Amino acid sequence: MAKSKKKSIWVFGDYRNYYQNRVTLQLLSKAVDLSKTINAEVCALIFGHEVDEWIMEYTAHGADRILAIDDPALQSYSTERYLAIIEALTRQREPEIILIGATDFGREFAPRLAKRLHTGLSADCVGLDITEDGLLLQIAPSFGGNMLAEIVTEHHRPQMATVRPGTFKERPHDYQRKAVVERLPLMKNLPKPRVRLIEYERSVEKEHTIENASVIVCGGRGMGNREKFKKLQELARLLGGDVGATRPVVYSGWAEHGALVGQAGKHIKPKILFSFGISGAIQHTAGLGEADFIIAINKNPQATMIKMSDVAIVGDASDVLNNLIKELKKRIRE
Ligand SMILES: Cc1cc2nc3c(=O)[nH]c(=O)nc-3n(C[C@H](O)[C@H](O)[C@H](O)COP(=O)(O)OP(=O)(O)OC[C@H]3O[C@@H](n4cnc5c(N)ncnc54)[C@H](O)[C@@H]3O)c2cc1C
Repeated sequence: MAKSKKKSIWVFGDYRNYYQNRVTLQLLSKAVDLSKTINAEVCALIFGHEVDEWIMEYTAHGADRILAIDDPALQSYSTERYLAIIEALTRQREPEIILIGATDFGREFAPRLAKRLHTGLSADCVGLDITEDGLLLQIAPSFGGNMLAEIVTEHHRPQMATVRPGTFKERPHDYQRKAVVERLPLMKNLPKPRVRLIEYERSVEKEHTIENASVIVCGGRGMGNREKFKKLQELARLLGGDVGATRPVVYSGWAEHGALVGQAGKHIKPKILFSFGISGAIQHTAGLGEADFIIAINKNPQATMIKMSDVAIVGDASDVLNNLIKELKKRIRE
């Protein structure tokens, strides 16, 4: 198998459903930016059965090269098999960088791959860049999330990182783009999976799309109770947006986990963000990096959220919420 001479940034194609596919597209977009700085090509890895749709999709989103293995034996994701395949390909082709979405599957196999390749891995990165020396700068929460660490892998290759969904913005489809597509045969002697998928069914929990919402109404502990928190839905509905929440709110059961915004949850990029009764702890604001315009409502004028907002309203969260809903309804009727 010919080794491509140019440096290569690999993106693992996780396409199992809409949400996992989005993180792959976001990684491809970032990989394109990084590739310009180090003069590398962007290569997407696609394993599975009947994967042509994904070859087109990843080409349209920035891949210069696709390494695809299309075989019924790869119909369901298997950590052991995927590990064996990527390990072998990595040893043959020596990519500079491998980026993997921090999905459940990515989190399971990325550390195993790093161990096999005897290299480092920064998990759950919230930023990536290239240093002056051409190394991958991996920005990841550390010390229980109280600090952001900047990590480089100086001596070992590939440089590996997993990245949270929603951290980067995907590019628009460009169906004019072309990529070199290498269709590889399934390797011989792959390990027999110890886990066999018998059947699967989708979770009935509503899958949140707050990463893509352009208006988000986010609520914190300052909403007071579940009933008052629920009222945020009404404002979100009127504005065509979605509801986000802080960790105490999720832990209290006022909102489901999919609504969590911040280091342990989603990274959001709305055009308008309403922040009701939220103090602005760093673990929460870590998820707000790309919000365009923030309107914060808090009874404490010193709250961080108030200080970092574009419009600050100092007052009772529920009073402001109810007045806003009333006013909006009035304007819609007029
Ligand atoms: C490892 C780790 C990971 C974490 N990850 C996340 C994460 O992903 N997302 C996240 O959100 N948190 C996360 N946290 C928790 C985070 O540190 C904060 O505890 C949390 O964000 C605080 O939530 P809050 O603003 O709702 O509550 P609080 O900090 O209690 O703030 C409530 C705010 O409401 C205001 N208020 C009170 N009453 C009213 C009222 N009637 N009207 C108006 N304002 C009012 C108060 O002035 C205050 O500013 C994490 C913590 C750790 C240790």
